[in-house]
Amino acid sequence: MTINGGISFWYATDTTAHQPPRAPLTTDATADVVIVGGGYTGLWTAYYLKRAAPDLRVTVLEQKFCGYGASGRNGGWLYNGIAGRDRYAALHGHQAALRLQHAMNDTVTEVIDTAAKEGIDADVHRGGVLEVARTPAQLTRLKAFHAAELGFGESDRVLYDATDTRARIDIADAVGSSWTPHGARIHPLKLVRGLAAACERLGVVIHESTPVTELAPRRAVTPYGTVRAPYVLRCTEGFTAALKGQKRTWLPMNSSMIVTAPLPPSAWDSLGWSDQAVLGDMAHAYMYAQRTADDRIAIGGRGVPYRFGSRTDNDGRTQPATIASLSSLLFSFFPQLTGTEITHAWSGVLGVPRDWCATVTLDATTGLGWAGGYVGSGVATANLAARTLRDLVLGQTTELTTLPWVHHRVRRWEPEPFRWLGVHALYAAYREADRHESTTHRPTTTPLARLADHISGRG
Ligand SMILES: Cc1cc2nc3c(=O)[nH]c(=O)nc-3n(C[C@H](O)[C@H](O)[C@H](O)COP(=O)(O)OP(=O)(O)OC[C@H]3O[C@@H](n4cnc5c(N)ncnc54)[C@H](O)[C@@H]3O)c2cc1C
Repeated sequence: MTINGGISFWYATDTTAHQPPRAPLTTDATADVVIVGGGYTGLWTAYYLKRAAPDLRVTVLEQKFCGYGASGRNGGWLYNGIAGRDRYAALHGHQAALRLQHAMNDTVTEVIDTAAKEGIDADVHRGGVLEVARTPAQLTRLKAFHAAELGFGESDRVLYDATDTRARIDIADAVGSSWTPHGARIHPLKLVRGLAAACERLGVVIHESTPVTELAPRRAVTPYGTVRAPYVLRCTEGFTAALKGQKRTWLPMNSSMIVTAPLPPSAWDSLGWSDQAVLGDMAHAYMYAQRTADDRIAIGGRGVPYRFGSRTDNDGRTQPATIASLSSLLFSFFPQLTGTEITHAWSGVLGVPRDWCATVTLDATTGLGWAGGYVGSGVATANLAARTLRDLVLGQTTELTTLPWVHHRVRRWEPEPFRWLGVHALYAAYREADRHESTTHRPTTTPLARLADHISGRG
């Protein structure tokens, strides 16, 4: 039987995580910086601020517990992708986007090294990222993607043909793949929990079970009191729409995952996957997967992409239809695993800006700042955002504060029902495009997918 929800597999199986929450805020308070949200963005920001300025009074307010959001539920791809790089290249020039890409490459190492320095065991394994094509149209996109990444300085990226791909991981129908060393597998919840503990060791005050109901210049209001601070940082990503005045800022997109029971050595012998690269594909409605430290396969994809009115899920429950479609996707990749038990399923939300570009911002006049809109690439990006927020709060102009995603503004999403209709039409188009490409075997991307990219602002 599959356990559905319970935050995530990572949470459900990590018994050390089942502690009573940290004490909530009980009264009005003051700080130098108040951070809303106890995920990677909020906690890394608190961490780097305290490291740079130990006397700074930093308070984190988290509505449930640290890691309740996407940071405790994700696919554990710590990699160098950042949402919006190509648009930033178009807006600010190739060199600016190249600096952003180099910063992201360095960020993968920064997260691994800092976790090690802080004694955080997050099951890190640096096996890189393997992105696979399974149809001729996907292969065409894969080659274009590979060439684009080389153009952004990834001289260590490798293109594999069908035979070499299957020698790495025995994926049915694989026709090619592109591998980069700039990625690692992590246990997402262990990272966020370890980070919260590291913050506390530095003197950061963390209040859990403390929902912020209003964010305004120099104050964060909760039912239990108001924290006043010169800087108020919103680090709520996929939950942002629930905040007053933010309904149309970032669309809360669902992503769902399933995980198998641990696979026996004989199954791994037949699959390969010994380097434990994280795995993705070039479908329009793409998947992502990892081989977990305890020898399961965790695989994720879009499922039902968006709930009407920007609602979020109920503690990670996903739809039975999504579990069925992710299971059949898994077994189509690995037919030899057909019938393997799926032990857990869950979902979470990520923040999608109208132009699909991640951003980090601080308004020096009001002291309000935020970072997010990472789309599906936030595990490493949140760390880069946090170091950038640190520099912005400390009033320093650095290499990070001059990157092209800093202070980027974008228009808001359409009101309902257009938002719901648009996103559902978009993903219906992507699913149809994937189906069409895998049945016709044409080597070109279907015009339907190109049109969807164009209309959505994603392309
Ligand atoms: C299923 C899934 C798989 C993913 N896989 C990957 C992956 O493999 N690689 C990758 O790079 N990215 C992945 N992502 C995206 C990545 O996990 C996120 O971008 C990243 O975790 C965002 O971190 P965050 O701290 O900004 O947001 P979150 O982790 O969502 O944290 C926000 C926090 O704010 C709190 N909060 C919200 N509102 C309030 C409020 N009003 N008051 C107080 N607290 C509040 C929430 O409870 C939450 O803890 C995935 C996301 C999902 C959902």
